[in-house]
Amino acid sequence: MYSNIRVGYGIDVHKFSPIGEGDHIFLCGIKIPHNSKIIAHSDGDAALHALTDAMLGAASLGDIGEHFPSTDPQWKDKNSMHFLLHAHNLLHKAGYKLNNLDITIICQRPKVTPYKNAMRDKLSTALEIDKEAVSIKATTTDGLGFTGRKKGILATATVCCIKIADYTAA
Ligand code: MG
Repeated sequence: MYSNIRVGYGIDVHKFSPIGEGDHIFLCGIKIPHNSKIIAHSDGDAALHALTDAMLGAASLGDIGEHFPSTDPQWKDKNSMHFLLHAHNLLHKAGYKLNNLDITIICQRPKVTPYKNAMRDKLSTALEIDKEAVSIKATTTDGLGFTGRKKGILATATVCCIKIADYTAA
């Protein structure tokens, strides 16, 4: 007998361009000033990619690379909110309701904390859940590793979903 509570987890990494090649990045759909850009096929929003994978994982629906291959030109420079909303829609079709989510963003720079509130508002609105159910955390690796050297960014996400209906579509 399966529980009606499901947990999903996602992780994503993207690297920064050399300093001076860009002036912003996107995290949780929020534009954040930075001295380099993210190198990626889409807009490189690591937080939304991790969250998308967590949602897909909760319902065993594969991963973001299966749904949106980085070799497909239609996803070039794509706003990652598109991927997230697609996964959210699949979750609903599979009979699940998103209960809460918890994201951790790991980077030395840019500073994420000033943007957490805007990120929570953005995701709360986009996913139609209470702001209280949207957690955004930020940390550094104390100068260690690729995030510590400011070479890239890492994000993880965990979601909890409740099954509210029988499967209606794949
Ligand atoms: Mg990614």
